[in-house]
Amino acid sequence: MRVRILGSGTSTGVPVLGCDCKVCTSSKPHYKRLRSSILISFEGGNALIDTGPDLRQQMLSASAPNVDAVWMTHTHADHLHGLDEIRALSFKRKSPIELWAKQEHLVDIKSRFHYLFQDTGYKGFVPAIETKEVSACFQSLGQKVETVYLPHGHMQTVAYKVGSFAYATDFKKFPPEAIAAWKGRIHTMVASGIRYREHASHSSVYETIQLFKDLEVKRGFIHHLAHDVDADLDASKLPENVQFAFDGLEFDVSKLLE
Ligand SMILES: [Zn+2]
Ligand SMILES: [Zn+2]
Ligand SMILES: [Zn+2]
Repeated sequence: MRVRILGSGTSTGVPVLGCDCKVCTSSKPHYKRLRSSILISFEGGNALIDTGPDLRQQMLSASAPNVDAVWMTHTHADHLHGLDEIRALSFKRKSPIELWAKQEHLVDIKSRFHYLFQDTGYKGFVPAIETKEVSACFQSLGQKVETVYLPHGHMQTVAYKVGSFAYATDFKKFPPEAIAAWKGRIHTMVASGIRYREHASHSSVYETIQLFKDLEVKRGFIHHLAHDVDADLDASKLPENVQFAFDGLEFDVSKLLE
């Protein structure tokens, strides 16, 4: 199982438009953060988690791999608004792309991108998308996928676990039942930690480090970072088994297990 970080930034991306702070004006390539998303490659196909507004650019940087399934975390713009790129990703496909989401998120997605799901009479290309509702445990691309739901402001986000790898973004905290479900069962995890200061609906960097401890995660990557985080300067604040993710970072989960 291979994971590629397609984007590691918060909702604005970094640099933030119009900002002249040290991080936003840095010329270091790993300081440029597109909106958060990952691609997981299995033998059975490729799963994309979220379709943010930078999806086209992210897929071009990844040499345009096939996407066989999309697993949505939630419907905030920075995670959903690139969904239209599914059209181009479908051109050569013979079978529909699976789109997995929570029931209320599917309703929201179908309302905002109604033309992808309804017959509008348009004569051009319309992608084949098979919507599917996530449950605590489901099968996608031949993989057993487990989920937990996490509080994020007024909504819940879906966190995904496949084997010993887990991905969670945009959450305030893991509720006790989610900790109980996944504790000691995750080797490698990508989780959001927006900045050092507390945030009303996001876990901070420090809270995410504590979460990795609570879940007994062996290798942690923190993403969905705002421009408050200076990745090089702040790396020393992280425990040895935790690092900041960056765009284009790839790892083989089974190699990290060795
Ligand atoms: Zn977000
Ligand atoms: Zn800035
Ligand atoms: Zn969000």
